[in-house]
Amino acid sequence: MSADHECCGVPLERYQLSRADHRRQQEAVGVAAWVAEQVAKAPRMSDEQLETVMELLREPGPPVEEMTWRVRLYCGHIREVTSPRSWLRPYQGVSGQEPCVDRGLDPATIVAFEPLASDSGPGKLA
Ligand SMILES: [Zn+2]
Repeated sequence: MSADHECCGVPLERYQLSRADHRRQQEAVGVAAWVAEQVAKAPRMSDEQLETVMELLREPGPPVEEMTWRVRLYCGHIREVTSPRSWLRPYQGVSGQEPCVDRGLDPATIVAFEPLASDSGPGKLA
């Protein structure tokens, strides 16, 4: 774990949601609904276009060192997630989100987090 990796809202178990958390969750749900609407309206890809996209997705990128984080989701569940080690938080941008499989909340914004271990560091998880 690097000292550069950030912490937010620890201990995760006692974190209390803020007004900003409620607003970010509301925005994330709104954006997800808008994207789903746009995707539903988009013209269907031809088989050829679909094959081109699938080929691009199959190409392996360069290996990325990963970092494991403990995150608390908007719904209150705590999970472990991984992100590239170079990121200082478990997500990039204004806020991160993960679907909550327990409550079916998708997206569920990440409201608090702490770094656990990197895949090359001494604290590597088994
Ligand atoms: Zn949950």
